Amino acid sequence: MDNDEKYDENLKNDDEQAVNGAGMDDDSDSTEAASGQMSDSENTQSGSHNDDKGPGQQTGDICFVCRRKESEVGPLVHIMNGMSICPDCLNKFTSGFSNMEFYMPGVGGFAYVDPAAGGNSAGNGVNSGKDSDSSDTHDFRETVTPASVIDQNGNPVSEAQEDDDDNDEEAKGQGNPNIINLGSIFENFGIPQMQTRRPKKKKKNDYPKLDINNLPAPHIIKSKLDEYVIGQEKAKKVISVAVYNHYKRILTMKPEDNDVEIGKSNVLLVGPTGSGKTYLVQTLARILQVPLAITDATTLTEAGYIGDDVESVLSKLLLEADNDVKAAEHGIVFIDEIDKISKKKNTNSRDVSGESVQQGLLKLLEGSEVEVPVGANNKNAMVPMTVVDTTNILFIVGGAFPGIEKIIRNRLNEKAGIGFNSALQDKYDDDKDLQLKVRVEDLREFGMIPEFLGRLPIICGFQSLDKEMYRAILTQPKNAIIKQYQKLLSLDEVNLKFEDDAIEAIAEKAVKEKTGARALRSIIEEFMLDIMYEIPKDDNIGTVTITRSYIEGHGSPVIEMRTEEKH
Ligand code: ADP
Repeated sequence: MDNDEKYDENLKNDDEQAVNGAGMDDDSDSTEAASGQMSDSENTQSGSHNDDKGPGQQTGDICFVCRRKESEVGPLVHIMNGMSICPDCLNKFTSGFSNMEFYMPGVGGFAYVDPAAGGNSAGNGVNSGKDSDSSDTHDFRETVTPASVIDQNGNPVSEAQEDDDDNDEEAKGQGNPNIINLGSIFENFGIPQMQTRRPKKKKKNDYPKLDINNLPAPHIIKSKLDEYVIGQEKAKKVISVAVYNHYKRILTMKPEDNDVEIGKSNVLLVGPTGSGKTYLVQTLARILQVPLAITDATTLTEAGYIGDDVESVLSKLLLEADNDVKAAEHGIVFIDEIDKISKKKNTNSRDVSGESVQQGLLKLLEGSEVEVPVGANNKNAMVPMTVVDTTNILFIVGGAFPGIEKIIRNRLNEKAGIGFNSALQDKYDDDKDLQLKVRVEDLREFGMIPEFLGRLPIICGFQSLDKEMYRAILTQPKNAIIKQYQKLLSLDEVNLKFEDDAIEAIAEKAVKEKTGARALRSIIEEFMLDIMYEIPKDDNIGTVTITRSYIEGHGSPVIEMRTEEKH
């Protein structure tokens, strides 16, 4: 599903951002690349030459070009960043270029060859920019005195001349005949060039700017929802209106408009598991092209206790918005399993994951400026922070509220029991859609605190799905599971058919499982596994028809071969 892919990609982004956040820059990338290149040699670390190195850098016990050991080739010359070169390789480098300044892009070090001391002889012929027993790795340019800088003809370069040369371009090794790009020499030796920069990743979630002119009207939002979400007519209508009003408010209200302040329309969804609450919100965010963060209230705890702080929901949203605070501030946060943070009854201990979380969420729901860690769930000293204003973030919370039917029924029966209607007292006993009649007082009785409910002015019930709805979910939505399998097999030029009775059998199974529409996918995946495994074996299979007996486990699918053989 599109949204799932988006989440995966964002996770990847997250990792990358975490790395960047830890202060790694492009130069360190190049160091990584350099160390990766040479990591196969053992015993290459030599603390005596270089105490200051970053992790993974090479030291000079072997020649970095021919990789022979110092014991085989004689004293090595330490060039830079802990790398060393043997006299032979140095000769190859320096022959014909007796007086050279070597520049290594991305590493930032220079090496000078001193002809007076015999430029192409080993060891002492090279002024590596440090004493032989010096233990520091540093920018050689800083340590070489002007007198030791020598031009191509072996003449010392004057200070003024050197200053002239000291411009950006030349520092990059371009335009100055005295500077050779070691990278190109490596190439001549067959050593792959060091990677200095990682290509920049393209931004994944490019959210268009919301505009009152392109904000879809409620009936359009609803008709788009109809393409994906089966049933739940009331919920789709209520949400379409709520979302339209919400975005209309934030797109048209100006700070100076203070005559009538339109309140925030956060939404609470009550419905059995697998009835499409999350799916509806996901579809909505896709229609409106706004960032959506889905989070689970069960992971939240009061600040300071094990678990995520309430602010972590905003970190997720920020992540979805690719750290674009403006986009995140117009996004949607969906908090699932909200019933799990109801007030614990009869408890003497501190309710850190129930009532306290509701209290913590109050300020987010109402609208406030919150400091949010970027790229992490919890605040800590290493994580950069940013401020997110939640005033325009739409909060939708959802939960199954198990047992709420009883509370609703009691309320309704109590009312029915008064006066002339008392005969109808058991009228609601068989009502399967009691959740649609949920009211604030029922939720309060369930354990949600009044302040919390007060910030969720729109309460909407979801009906339980029945067999007919399951049948529709299997076949009708734009991305119905059966359509997805048919598409997958059509890529192998195989026609997948479902007998009507087979669809009925799947729906019956789903009703028995009592996990809502989620059961449909697991049922289908179970019996499609064999088909997806077997069909690619035989190129001549043209049509597969799924039957009720196959679903019920005492038959097999009907396989028809192609009339023309596939070549
Ligand atoms: P919950 O109500 O527990 O949040 P979900 O929205 O996660 O349930 O539903 C699980 C899956 O079931 C969804 O991904 C979707 O594919 C399917 N589904 C549930 N309800 C519907 C529906 N009314 N119409 C279409 N698909 C649905």
